[in-house]
Amino acid sequence: MNIGIVGLGLIGGSLGLDLRSQPNLHYVWGISRNQTTCDRAVALGAVDVASQNFASIPQIDRTDVVFICTPISAILPAIASVIPHISQTAIITDVGSVKSSISLQGQMLWSRFVGGHPMAGTAFSGIEAAERSLFQQRVCVLTPGIDRAALEMVRSIWESVGATVYESSPEAHDRAVAWISHLPVIVSAGLLLASQREGNNEISQLAQKLASSGFRDTSRVGGGNPELGRMMAEYNQTALLDHLYSYQQTLQDLITMIEQGQWQEIQTALEVAQHLRPLYVRE
Ligand code: NAP
Repeated sequence: MNIGIVGLGLIGGSLGLDLRSQPNLHYVWGISRNQTTCDRAVALGAVDVASQNFASIPQIDRTDVVFICTPISAILPAIASVIPHISQTAIITDVGSVKSSISLQGQMLWSRFVGGHPMAGTAFSGIEAAERSLFQQRVCVLTPGIDRAALEMVRSIWESVGATVYESSPEAHDRAVAWISHLPVIVSAGLLLASQREGNNEISQLAQKLASSGFRDTSRVGGGNPELGRMMAEYNQTALLDHLYSYQQTLQDLITMIEQGQWQEIQTALEVAQHLRPLYVRE
C-alpha cells in the first residue's frame, strides 16, 4: 500500500516505524513542518521519503491512505493541504485526541475521511520519541462516517499494528476520553503544581528526594507534553469542565470526611475506589 503520514512526531513516527517493518512492504511517505524532522524520520526508518512540501513526494497521486498526525489545531488545515495532491479514491484519517471538532468537518472536506484516535502515548514528543510497537495491545477509536469501506480499510491498518478498534460517535468519544484521559492530565498537573505551594524549602527538597513509584505514576500524564494537554482542554472544553466539576465535588466530599474525622466513611470510599479500578485498568 502507498501510505502517507502528515506530522512526523511521537504518533506519526511510531506509526511509520511499525508500518515499514511489516513484511508486506508499504511505501510510506511523510510530511512534517521542519526539514530536520523529515531527515531524522528517514534516517530512523519511519518513512521512505519525507518533505515539507506535498508536491515533492514521489507517487503521492497513488496514495491509498493518509494519516494526519499533527497537533489538533493543524489537523483540518492539513486535510485541506493534502487534498489537491491525492486521487479521489484515497482515504484520509487522523489521530487527534478529540473528535467532535474534527470528524464532521473532516468529512465535509473529504467524503472518504474517517476520524480516529489511537489510545497510546508516552510523556515524550517529537520524532526522537517515536517507538516501535507503541500501538500493540492498545485501543484505537474510529468514528464511522459516510464511507463504510474507508473505515474498514483504516481499521485493518490499525489492527495490523496491534491495536483493537472500537467504533463510537465523536460526541460519545469526547465525553468518555474526558474521563479517562483529559481529566487525569489536569488532575495530575494540579498535583505537581500544588506541590509547589509548600512554603518550606527544606520540606520541598526533601519531598523531591523521597518521591518514588506512587508519585511517578500519579504525576506522569500531568508532566507530559504541555501543547497536547492545552489542546485537549481547548478542544474538549465542555466535557472536560463537566467532569472537572464532578471531580471537584468528589474531592470536597472526601475533604469533609477527613475534616470531620469520618474514618469509616473514608475507608468505605477507598474500598469503592479499589473495586472500581479494575473496571478501567487491565494489568
Ligand atoms: P508530537 O510528538 O508533537 O508530533 C506532532 C508533529 O507534527 C511535530 O513533531 C511536528 O513536526 C508536526 N507538525 C506540527 N505542525 C505541523 C503542520 N502544520 N504540518 C505538518 N506537520 C506538523 O505530537 P504527538 O504526541 O505525536 O501528537 C500528534 C497527534 O496525535 C495530536 O493530534 C494528538 O492529539 C494525537 N495523539 C497524541 C497522543 C499522545 O499521547 N501523545 C495519543 C493519541 C493521539 P516538526 O518537528 O516538523 O515541527
